[in-house]
Formats: sequence, structure tokens, C-alpha cells
Amino acid sequence: MPDCLHMNFAANVVVARLVKEEGSLNAKEFVADVTIHCADCQHPFVFLGLPSGYSLDGPTVSVDGLEARLAVAPQGVMLPVAERSKVRGFTIGIVSQDGRKRDVREPS
Ligand SMILES: [Zn+2]
Repeated sequence: MPDCLHMNFAANVVVARLVKEEGSLNAKEFVADVTIHCADCQHPFVFLGLPSGYSLDGPTVSVDGLEARLAVAPQGVMLPVAERSKVRGFTIGIVSQDGRKRDVREPS
């Protein structure tokens, strides 16, 4: 990795269908988990600027920064609030040693 210029990339996207009841085939909410690594040296890339956690209302990132978690929907299809899952996700706030909070967002 030290001499690699990271010129080529490989990405993996896992799209999951979220159903309200186990065994149901009727998914109305979807999430996409994305990872990227250098195709030459395999070094993983981190996602910057996203809050840590998991949310069905917006993008988040895993605590190690390696997996972007994106709420997605078929184009033109957005569930009304009343039909959306009650569990919207969570975010993790990180407090630095100087006491300043960063990466904090209200829970969804
Ligand atoms: Zn590389």
C-alpha cells in the first residue's frame, strides 16, 4: 500500500429490502450499503462527512467509516410518513478530548 497511487477502485453495493413482517415479500423501504477499496492494493476507503449510525431518512456511515449506509427508494415512490417504519435508525455522537461535539445529529 505505501507506494500505491490508488489509481483504480472497486466498489461493492449491497441493497437490502426492509419488510415489516418476517416472511413478507412486500418491501417498502430499502437501504444500500456501499464500500470502496483500491483495486490495486486493496486498501479500503473511508466515507467523510456523514454522521455515524444508521438511518432510514438519510445517509450515515459505520463507526469505522468504511461503509456508507444510504436510504434509497424507487424513483418517484416515497412512502407517506404514516406508512414508514417506526424505527428510523440511530446516530452516534462523538465528543473530542477538548469537549467539542462532532458528528452529532438528532436521532431519526
Ligand atoms: Zn492502492
